Amino acid sequence: MQHIHDTLASLQRTSPAQKEFYQAVEEVLSSLTPVIESNPQYQEQAIIQRMVEPERQIIFRVPWVNDAGHVQVNKGYRIEFNSALGPYKGGLRFHPSVNASIIKFLGFEQIFKNALTGLPIGGGKGGSNFDPKGKSDGEIMRFCQSFMNEMYRHIGPVTDVPAGDIGVGAREIGYMFGQYKRLTGRYEGVFTGKSLLWGGSLGRKEATGYGTVYFAECILNDRQDTLKGKKCLVSGAGNVAIYAIEKLYHIGALPVTCSDSRGAIYHEKGIDLELLKQLKEVQRGSLEEYLITYPEAVYIPVGDYPKDGHAVWRNQADAAFPCATQNELTLADAQALISNGCQLICEGANMPTTQEAANAIVDAKIAYGPAKAANAGGVATSQLEMAQNASMQNWTFEKVDAHLKTIMETIFTSANEASKEFGQPGNLVLGANIAGFRKVADAMIEQGVV
Ligand code: NDP
Repeated sequence: MQHIHDTLASLQRTSPAQKEFYQAVEEVLSSLTPVIESNPQYQEQAIIQRMVEPERQIIFRVPWVNDAGHVQVNKGYRIEFNSALGPYKGGLRFHPSVNASIIKFLGFEQIFKNALTGLPIGGGKGGSNFDPKGKSDGEIMRFCQSFMNEMYRHIGPVTDVPAGDIGVGAREIGYMFGQYKRLTGRYEGVFTGKSLLWGGSLGRKEATGYGTVYFAECILNDRQDTLKGKKCLVSGAGNVAIYAIEKLYHIGALPVTCSDSRGAIYHEKGIDLELLKQLKEVQRGSLEEYLITYPEAVYIPVGDYPKDGHAVWRNQADAAFPCATQNELTLADAQALISNGCQLICEGANMPTTQEAANAIVDAKIAYGPAKAANAGGVATSQLEMAQNASMQNWTFEKVDAHLKTIMETIFTSANEASKEFGQPGNLVLGANIAGFRKVADAMIEQGVV
């Protein structure tokens, strides 16, 4: 439709060289034609043109001193994308690949994901091109403090509430929260994903991985099927992957792979979860060390991956859970999965499938849980953490987990209903985009041209 073409052309002119951002915008807009045609106000009020432009983009210098006494400089970002439904909410990513395009794609996705949860949270994202790998604790702390020296003035419990993402876990959040407290003198719920010792929520660490598996189970149950007994491929070895693997075991499935930025493990009898946690959560080392305990497992280094994709997806399995990073599942990977009999692909990471791969999966009509619906459990539980902080209460793990499960079921139902209403039953890519968009667009219209 013309408006998609015009919007993308305009973005390419006004925000050049942001390919991941254009990809995310195109993916959402290509689902929206029927809903935009159904309500003339969306065009009259220039909703699309307003939605693709962040309300505010903060880009700043992060100077810090390394252990050798040398001054280092990184770039910091906070994109406050849309506050129609609530305070900006979305994680911080510390990874050398971070740039404005990556943060804007993540922030844009976050708007619709947060809307789908049904909770009062707007969309934002931030981070830095800082690489935490190989840095000492002292260096991480000094970087986090410097990052916060600028960020503190833009965030707050009712304005913008960041959380973790790739490279930002409890340690980094602790250092940033400490500096926020020192600068403002306020002890308040300005971050989520905090330590359980000082304001964190039970169940937050597990939420994204568990939620992705709950969502997958919703899709399969709707097709009179279940994950129980299914052989599953998982990519990643971080927060999302580890807890997706844990929940797959709870449900009675068999996760046989995981991967990190250096390579992939295939273990026929099932990934040893405790060993994986030890290697990645405690030692923060390479997955190759998995072979010391299990020499019979197969390790494929990145250099030996297929030229057109990722080693994990070339194994035969019933279900696939990409849980590492963006564009990690290519068209060739999707074709391999489908022809090997895979019945479900459910996204734990953000935008892990390329646009061509996503189209092939939709066309094959296998069960497909798109990221903005399937991995929304993390941010939903962050909002539960905010609710606990605001009411000065601590909920039990069981209570948080029960809320998470209900929220994932509700997201599935609203995406599934929207897919039926717009004539493509079971197409959850279309359903999630439309259901998320409508909530934000209607709120924007009611709040006037701001
Ligand atoms: P972590 O940093 O905990 O783990 C990321 C994992 O992916 C690591 O195993 C890392 O390898 C690997 N990885 C990172 N970048 C690359 C790359 N370019 N190529 C290959 N492998 C890579 O992050 P999370 O688990 O928190 O996040 C994973 C994904 O899930 C991201 O897309 C994130 O945006 C998304 N997400 C996370 C949420 C959360 O609550 N944490 C919520 C919703 C979405 P290595 O170990 O070598 O670093």
